[in-house]
Amino acid sequence: NLVKHFPVRVGFVVKRTVGHVQAVDGVDLTLARGETLGLVGESGCGKSTLAKLLVGVEKPTSGTIRIEGEDVTRLRRAGVRRMRRNIQMVFQDPYTSLNPRMSVGAIVGEPYAIHPDAIPSQGKEHAVKELLDLVGLNPDHLNRYPHQFSGGQRQRIGIARALALRPKVLICDEPVSALDVSIQGQVINLLQRLQEELGLAYLFIAHDLSVVRHIAHRVSVMYLGRIVEEGTDAQVYDHSMHPYTQGLLSAVPVPDPTLRGRRDEIVLEGDVPSPTDPPSGCRFHPRCWRAREIDAAGPESCRTEDPALRVREGGEHPVACHFARVRDVLHKRA
Ligand code: SF4
Ligand code: MG
Repeated sequence: NLVKHFPVRVGFVVKRTVGHVQAVDGVDLTLARGETLGLVGESGCGKSTLAKLLVGVEKPTSGTIRIEGEDVTRLRRAGVRRMRRNIQMVFQDPYTSLNPRMSVGAIVGEPYAIHPDAIPSQGKEHAVKELLDLVGLNPDHLNRYPHQFSGGQRQRIGIARALALRPKVLICDEPVSALDVSIQGQVINLLQRLQEELGLAYLFIAHDLSVVRHIAHRVSVMYLGRIVEEGTDAQVYDHSMHPYTQGLLSAVPVPDPTLRGRRDEIVLEGDVPSPTDPPSGCRFHPRCWRAREIDAAGPESCRTEDPALRVREGGEHPVACHFARVRDVLHKRA
């Protein structure tokens, strides 16, 4: 039941709080060892805020985060340091997340400056070389600088840095969206190999649904600070029941041209509304095509009743929609 509300303050001298941005508003997620959970949704849905809560960059307003049963939201300093070792982050943009003035060796070894107790007995340089080797980079290149590497190689450097403290969980926030499509596959394959070798769990945040389908075992769909649908990749991709998920899937290009004309597309109109003042009832109702299909003005229950995330009739996975049902959205594996 993780919640993060940011106060909105106005005024120059005397500030007053005029509202709250409900960035994350009661989210439940479970991540098993060695598993990849995909988290999808448009920008502004709260995905990145959730990531920051999980790595401890932001503190939750309320709710708990447990690692192997231990509530890490209530830990004191030493405990927080230990927790940070267990959950590391891979950032979206390999061009801006690496300091251009630092050598690759210094970048990858940076976590050891904060956690000297994590340096293996053979020493820091040895550890850095091993990490570079682990992610498929030449270990002898540790004195080079980020600009001497390609985008894909830079993301490998970012991954090596994230692995320095031997974490159990990697939070990957759009880790391949800044890369060329041809390079994306290589980085995804690397993440999959590392998962097998090291037993890592990934929270894989992305707006690109085909990438998520490729890597995720389970998928959660987020809208305006809430999870609206979750299930195995097959449940969410082939039997999606939430109109929002169905809209997202409909926007994924179909590679097979014979299917193109047959697909009746859902267009998600407008942007995600402001999380300062989320819509009443179902937060998706102002954009919901199904609600309009039922009633031009939208059924009353959609406007007044907040739908709970639970298994609905005709389905096997939790959905937050009063009128959830499977729709034949053609979606091929890219
Ligand atoms: Fe649409 Fe109503 Fe379902 Fe919300 S509850 S997703 S508005 S049909
Ligand atoms: Mg984001």
